[in-house]
Amino acid sequence: MNKESAVVVFSGGQDSTTCLFWAKKRFKEVIAISFDYNQKHKQELDCAKNICNKYDIEHHILDMSLLNQLAPNSLTRADIKVDKDKPKDGLPNSFVYGRNLLFLTFVSVFAKQREINHIITGVSQSDFSGYPDCRDVFVKSTNVTLNLAMDFEFIIHTPLMWIDKEETWKLADDLGVLDIIKSETLTCYNGIIGDGCGECPACILRNNGYKNFINKKIK
Ligand code: ZN
Repeated sequence: MNKESAVVVFSGGQDSTTCLFWAKKRFKEVIAISFDYNQKHKQELDCAKNICNKYDIEHHILDMSLLNQLAPNSLTRADIKVDKDKPKDGLPNSFVYGRNLLFLTFVSVFAKQREINHIITGVSQSDFSGYPDCRDVFVKSTNVTLNLAMDFEFIIHTPLMWIDKEETWKLADDLGVLDIIKSETLTCYNGIIGDGCGECPACILRNNGYKNFINKKIK
């Protein structure tokens, strides 16, 4: 069992970058894996690459173009606009069916090759926008399935599971990486680094969380 290493599911956004630095504090070796599914906000891959280069983290980008082919939605098709508001019933059209299941599966295959038990993902039930694959029960169930599938003891860590965006900013601050997260990560669905476009749902969630965090910090 390799307790010194961990693999992080890494998109280059606020959440997964916070997880990356969380992992760096706990593990000797941290490896980041990003996925190319021809997402509209493909700039996130450059962003992920830059962060890993700058902070000396081994980084791999895996081809997941199949996901684009299978799941036409507002993150994968130029002609589908991202829902501004959450629909009353059903999932927002930014939900990519199967994404986290596929990401965790491929990351675990990678980790198994290296005999690495620890996998980290930045999903959060608190801010899950109704995404079913951000729930704790989904991650726990996937963890059991992957262990059975590969006869290996993966441990999936979810440092953000029970915290919201405001608390995620606080975690970044506690880790001493607030400025990095604020200016070098990309969360915006329109592909604008740092503070983003300010208008898409991802930006609104991120920026509101930041405002609340700063307001509390200066009190
Ligand atoms: Zn935006």
